[in-house]
Amino acid sequence: MQAAVLYDQRDIRIIETPIPAIGDDEVLVKNKVSTTCGTDVKNYKRGYPLLKPPHPYGHEFSGVVAEVGKNVTKFHVGDRVAVHNSAPCGHCYWCKHGQPSMCENLLFNRGSYAEYVKVPEPIVRQNMFVMPDSMSHKLASLMEPFSCAVYGIQNCPIQQGDFVVINGAGPIGLMFARLAVLRGAQVLVTDLKQNRLDVAQRMGVWKVLNLTGVEDTVEAVRDLTDEHRGADVVIEATGLIDVWKTSCRMARKGGFVLLFGGTKSGSVLEVDATLLHYSQITIKGVFHTTPLCVQEAFKLLEMGVIDENDFVNNEYRLPDLERAILEHASGAVIKNAIVYD
Ligand SMILES: [Zn+2]
Ligand SMILES: [Zn+2]
Repeated sequence: MQAAVLYDQRDIRIIETPIPAIGDDEVLVKNKVSTTCGTDVKNYKRGYPLLKPPHPYGHEFSGVVAEVGKNVTKFHVGDRVAVHNSAPCGHCYWCKHGQPSMCENLLFNRGSYAEYVKVPEPIVRQNMFVMPDSMSHKLASLMEPFSCAVYGIQNCPIQQGDFVVINGAGPIGLMFARLAVLRGAQVLVTDLKQNRLDVAQRMGVWKVLNLTGVEDTVEAVRDLTDEHRGADVVIEATGLIDVWKTSCRMARKGGFVLLFGGTKSGSVLEVDATLLHYSQITIKGVFHTTPLCVQEAFKLLEMGVIDENDFVNNEYRLPDLERAILEHASGAVIKNAIVYD
């Protein structure tokens, strides 16, 4: 089969490699669609700092079951499946404490830019679903990022009518926007790119704010809140430390700030201690997702709460993966799809 491998920073190669052999508890999926992700862009630009190359590349996909191990009863050859990229172990300290996103043995399945993908047992058991005929492979491929947004929004105390600002209109920010709208919030989305803000508008948000040329982004947001008091809830979805900082200053007294976007390693968040003391704001970080949120994300996708056409722009074949990644990196698209036969 053909598979993409990341050899180094900015060095993607498409290689011929054997179709993976599966164990008794594993499933082999013939790929239909892989979607590009901001994480793929980061890995392309920086490599995987903790791992030795070459690496199997990509993590979002959906396809059709091609083979099942002899102990697998939940799936059958020919099933169309939505497959998450990770699964916790279920028995470590964090799993037992109901915080499986921090599982010590969190398994990440890489290598979704390939004609076939092997799905390990913890994912088969917890984070893989047979899709209804009405669900497209493109939509199913969005289950991983969408489950992260579901986990994030569940951590936010949003009440109906709350003013919620979402900083960043990339795929995750847009998913947050949609979920906040469904919670009955007055949603404001900020970004520098108008094409992304146009998509935010389609999520049903109250207003979008293009920050191009805006000097004081905190003031610009507070100006839109009643009596200039700030937002009830602020969600950071850019992964830029400067936006983490400004996000903390956009909340009203007693407000809530969710810092979601992963920053460069070594980034330091400075917060005005006096502000934190007198404003009684809550600042929270979250990482990744949980099996419960993956299941809920799958259900929400089935309900059609987001449309794949808002998130997946252009289709490429595997040999053109680098072009698809670079176009994603440029911000000209929300995501791209790699499609397979
Ligand atoms: Zn992703
Ligand atoms: Zn665990």
